[in-house]
Amino acid sequence: MSTTTRAHGLAPVVASRLAAAPHLFIDGERREALSSRTQPVIDPGTGTQIATTACAGPADIDAAVAAAVRNLDPASEWRRMTPLERGRILSRIGEAIYAHADQFAELEVLDGGKVRGAARAIDVEFAARTFLYFAGWPSKIQGTTVPVSHPGIHVRTEREPVGVAGMITAWNFPLLLCGWKMAPALAAGCPVVFKASEETPLSALWLAELASEAGLPDGVLNVVPGHGAEAGAALVSHPDVRKLSFTGSTAVGRQIARSAADLVKRVTLELGGKSANIIFPDADLDAAVAGSAGGIFWHSGQTCSAPSRLFVHRDIHDEVVEKLLSEAAALTIGHGLDEGVDFGPLVSQRQLERVRGYVERAAADGAKVHQAGELPPGGGFFFPPTVIAGVTDEMECVREEIFGPVVVVLPFDDADEVARRANASDYGLAAGVWTGSVATEHAMTRALRAGTVYVNGWGLTDPAAPFGGFAQSGYGRDLGPDSLDGYLETKSVWTFHG
Ligand code: NAD
Repeated sequence: MSTTTRAHGLAPVVASRLAAAPHLFIDGERREALSSRTQPVIDPGTGTQIATTACAGPADIDAAVAAAVRNLDPASEWRRMTPLERGRILSRIGEAIYAHADQFAELEVLDGGKVRGAARAIDVEFAARTFLYFAGWPSKIQGTTVPVSHPGIHVRTEREPVGVAGMITAWNFPLLLCGWKMAPALAAGCPVVFKASEETPLSALWLAELASEAGLPDGVLNVVPGHGAEAGAALVSHPDVRKLSFTGSTAVGRQIARSAADLVKRVTLELGGKSANIIFPDADLDAAVAGSAGGIFWHSGQTCSAPSRLFVHRDIHDEVVEKLLSEAAALTIGHGLDEGVDFGPLVSQRQLERVRGYVERAAADGAKVHQAGELPPGGGFFFPPTVIAGVTDEMECVREEIFGPVVVVLPFDDADEVARRANASDYGLAAGVWTGSVATEHAMTRALRAGTVYVNGWGLTDPAAPFGGFAQSGYGRDLGPDSLDGYLETKSVWTFHG
């Protein structure tokens, strides 16, 4: 039996954030929700309440949007700010994240059930990097001179912020998604109303305060945690919000797109996935299994691009299943603040029941369910790493996003067949290929219908590389230069010289 120990108590700043009175962050200050509605914040590693958050309602969304709209006035400090000054503020936000990196990591563990090392190395690191990357952009957003065929007329394009950007995010990467959404919007000059997930509101609220200290004028960045059907829906239908950037499930994304269509809003949707990951017999098998296990078991499978459909060449199928189970058995499961833990809980009781339901139905349908690892005692929402073999492409566990540490393994015989089966999915977020052959790599990366394709590796992102989905995994892109287009209008200016 593996034992784990807690190295030290909570950082004072984390303890004080947990003890803070429930609040939203609107117009540069902490405010109670107008309805005084609150919700407990639960530590998924223990199942106990650690804080209380305010829940925004429609009146709070109105107040936040009004504060944001004020910053669209051409005379406002925000609109008059030079691009370089805007960039400096973004850079200071990135540095502020680094300055509090360990404390942010601790907060992400307590709020979202992460593991401390990964939270520090991935969530916090990449949130900071994203602000630093976009800090370079305000001074590079520019229009063009247009070669029109009208003598005596000069035409140029200018790029302007699209307006107030409304953002709604999932619970699985609370701080990281702040970077992905807020940084490009602010770089483009859009004031922001950010509806953090009701499950994991703490890091976004803290970041908004640090952004204010970094020099963002009041009302440019408002953070309003709340329930989707109230706060989220109010933001989606608000007439003064011109752009919506959503990260969450395909079901909710669909509703948002429908409702946004009434006011012809710009929408970016980063939705669910059921990513295919393919191991060819000429791959470095140990690397392929380690990478595939890391991809699906990291953050207990609660990542949108998790490689949850593993296709393995028939000749190596049994060997891969065995090696996957050894990788799973080597994981130490526990609370993410404890030393030596590399596999944490699911985010909530609801998510635990959802994942358990999928696995029980797979077993009832005749699949071979293998589980490894030892769950810790206590009340956390733990579910063991799970490998499901003996399945067919039509089964529920193969088609639907489970969003837990569950991988289905399917044998295949040749490249054309596996490409066809990999693409036979509603989703198209990510895909992976493990092979020693350049020809196979090229053929597969061309054939696979997914927004990101990994070859002989899995799961990295970078602020410079666009991220998003094909098909029902969404449209539009976060990160990279492409993401800025979602926050900018192009205006053609015609000057008649007579
Ligand atoms: P969810 O769709 O239930 O909730 C996401 C957000 O939408 C939350 O803030 C929620 O309050 C809000 N919401 C819910 N109903 C709403 C409504 N009617 N109107 C407006 N807002 C509403 O998703 P979740 O359970 O929080 O997250 C898991 C899902 O997110 C998975 O499907 C996962 O794949 C997806 N995800 C995708 C990406 C990506 O980049 N593609 C990244 C992370 C997570």
